Amino acid sequence: MRNLVDRLRPSPRLTVLLYHRIADDPSDPLAVKPRVFERQIQYLSANYHLVVARDLISRNAERKRLPRHTVWVTFDDATADVKEVAAPILSVHGVPATVFVPTASLGRTANWAMSPSPSGQMQVLDSESLKQLSHGGIELGYHSHTHRDFSQLPTAELREELRNSRDVVRSADLPFIGAFAYPFGRVPRDRRQRLELIELFREFEIHIGLRVGSRCNRFPFDDPYWIYRCQVSNDHVDDRLRELVTKPRRARRRAAQ
Ligand SMILES: [Zn+2]
Repeated sequence: MRNLVDRLRPSPRLTVLLYHRIADDPSDPLAVKPRVFERQIQYLSANYHLVVARDLISRNAERKRLPRHTVWVTFDDATADVKEVAAPILSVHGVPATVFVPTASLGRTANWAMSPSPSGQMQVLDSESLKQLSHGGIELGYHSHTHRDFSQLPTAELREELRNSRDVVRSADLPFIGAFAYPFGRVPRDRRQRLELIELFREFEIHIGLRVGSRCNRFPFDDPYWIYRCQVSNDHVDDRLRELVTKPRRARRRAAQ
């Protein structure tokens, strides 16, 4: 009976938010300004239930529900500003978050950026800084090894990417969680390739995969390797942020106008 009631209730929604750099850098379209970021984090902590991957992986495995409108804050690329600027703000407001790390670039300049910042701040954190981040309560996840487009790689190279990441994580003794953010948010389109990739994820104990797309996710997940994330920008404050969390497709249409 309980199962039937659960099935009839509307499925709780999870919105995953995607940040890159937190910086005053108008040349980087993905950068969110620190003062805007602080306002966003304050708003999220006041209005939503916040989770990270470790909560979701266990709840999903047990098919447990989430409170309605749960939010997960994530960062891609692990650039230096995430530790210097974002982490202190998250800590003040008690907001948990996950940082997805391209493991070949630890301590080096990111070289895949589509719009390199002239201020040269695309420095990826080194393993010591990542450990400090994780001691401060930030979760670490996988973002491939060399940040190549996973929709374009043959299976042997996908395996190589995952194995190299795992080797770096093991040898540096980094506390990574089994969550993977696809570089550029891209997932293989071909069904057979996708199934092969999921097999590889299972082999490497990666339990969830995050793409990019302006949608909420049903939870428990229909497909844990096809989780949508919504890109946050400087425009998302107060009502606009609420719209992004609760109606991301509408927020996207508005942004495109
Ligand atoms: Zn990335």
